[in-house]
Amino acid sequence: MRFCIVGHPVSHSLSPRIYTRFFEMKGIDATYEALDIQTGEFSSVIDVLLKEYDGLNVTIPFKEAVVAHVDCMVERSLRAVNCIFKGVGYNTDWIGFSNSLRDIKIEEPITILGAGGASRAVIYALKEFGVNRINVINRSTFRAERVAEDFNNRNFEVKIFSFDSLPSIVKKSKSIINATSIGMKGEYLSLGREEFQGISLVYDLIYSETPLQKVARECGVEKVIDGKAMLFFQACENLKIWGLFDKKTFERAFEEVVR
Ligand code: NDP
Repeated sequence: MRFCIVGHPVSHSLSPRIYTRFFEMKGIDATYEALDIQTGEFSSVIDVLLKEYDGLNVTIPFKEAVVAHVDCMVERSLRAVNCIFKGVGYNTDWIGFSNSLRDIKIEEPITILGAGGASRAVIYALKEFGVNRINVINRSTFRAERVAEDFNNRNFEVKIFSFDSLPSIVKKSKSIINATSIGMKGEYLSLGREEFQGISLVYDLIYSETPLQKVARECGVEKVIDGKAMLFFQACENLKIWGLFDKKTFERAFEEVVR
């Protein structure tokens, strides 16, 4: 079988090493490649890849763009696909995020940074948890507006803000979730001790250590989480969809590569 992850960039992704180790441990005859696709080439390349590969993962920035190319098994509001099997698209990010929060209390008000595919998965999961109001801060207004349009209803409200409001919104929040790629290359957010005072949870979807995580720890935030648990749980769901899941072996492969 042939698997791959498509994105831009993808060099940071641990998925090729994790799945390759898992296939080796299980004696499965399969490969998992990382394919870096230029943004302008995506729509012409993806249909070919869908024929060539049995399963695909989709990462930044293509999770929303890929929806138009697959048989989409994802609810309309979520509108982002990160896992594909034989041309059918699924979202396992939201289940990964949801499962990673099993033992964690997420206090409201909640502020999410980002309005891309991962942000949609987080909002969807929090809505499923019964949260009914979320602040979203995003760089581009139109993308945040689309998220609000897709999720807002009588019982659920996404309020959108620009990055100019970051310090004041964070100050009024209890939980902060970073669903942007800010921090992957060591970028800082303009937040300091004063803004973190009332925060009980910082959840950064990026799975390496970022300045946000470091500063939050230094400021005494009670719970600071990176994206490794989410990565683990979404990968379990991918393997289930691909018909290859074995929890014990996957835990060992994941530990070996990630910890
Ligand atoms: P998308 O490309 O769909 O969205 C990226 C988001 O980041 C957008 O909101 C974008 O804003 C914002 N952004 C990017 N660069 C900047 C910048 N320089 N300044 C401000 N905002 C910026 O990506 P995803 O939603 O798929 O992924 C987002 C992050 O979540 C990534 O870091 C990814 O690695 C992580 N992730 C982790 C997972 C895990 O399992 N741990 C699973 C899924 C994602 P704009 O709309 O303005 O472009």
